[in-house]
Amino acid sequence: MLRATLLGTGSPPPNPRRRGPATLLSLDDERFLVDAGSGVGAQLVQAGLRPYDWPRIFITHHHSDHTIDLGHLLITRWIVGQNAPLEIWGPAGTRRQVDRLLDYLAWDIEVRRAHMHDRKPPEVRVTEIEEGKVMEAGGVRVSAFLVEHGPVKPAYGFRFEGDGRSVVVSGDTRPCENLVRWAHKVDCLIHECCEMAKTSWYPGCGWPTIEDKIRDLASYHTQPDQIGLVAEESRAKELVMTHLLPASDPAELCAAARKHYAGPVVVGEDLMAV
Ligand SMILES: [Zn+2]
Ligand SMILES: [Zn+2]
Repeated sequence: MLRATLLGTGSPPPNPRRRGPATLLSLDDERFLVDAGSGVGAQLVQAGLRPYDWPRIFITHHHSDHTIDLGHLLITRWIVGQNAPLEIWGPAGTRRQVDRLLDYLAWDIEVRRAHMHDRKPPEVRVTEIEEGKVMEAGGVRVSAFLVEHGPVKPAYGFRFEGDGRSVVVSGDTRPCENLVRWAHKVDCLIHECCEMAKTSWYPGCGWPTIEDKIRDLASYHTQPDQIGLVAEESRAKELVMTHLLPASDPAELCAAARKHYAGPVVVGEDLMAV
């Protein structure tokens, strides 16, 4: 069965209980990783995947909380001996970001190669995506669709279909009509719920008051009182919430979602399979 494992259900603030955004999709031995948030390497190992077997990667958007460990995956997979090119699919700009990452890693790569026999530098195959079918492998069809994430354009969500099951991963987005269309009757909707009312604030952080910060960031994320409507309008068969802030309360999130959505509601936890 096509399954999703929530590797990281957190957001930018470090939270030992919730690693950065990352979701693993699998059907038998075919695997697809969505995003590479902080801690994703250790979470892949926890999910049973040795660095040698770390899979192809799909990036939703270039906010750092979704890409910060891309370099870790790339270099560690190569250090342990994997020579097959790492495949990365992502929005416009992915190739430039990967080139910069390889540039950053170049010194380390050369120092290590000097002690290795017959070893080429790591190879990366980047495909910049547009809305629609992205690829198909092992009976799983992967499609990307545009979401609304304010300052970040383009930002994508992904739909996976295989073996009679469908899973949508929202990426970061405010409530989005295009997502509702792409998630129509999906078996499992994994949707962000970045509850800005629970954010922190410090003087000099870029917003004059905490109210300003909440208003601004809530305009490009989905809030607890909105997420049930998204699930209901898309007629998703199950809602799984992710991208949570450390102060968010799972029982409160559940109750908020259930006001508008009658289906099963799950508050994601790291390493949970859905
Ligand atoms: Zn984002
Ligand atoms: Zn994010």
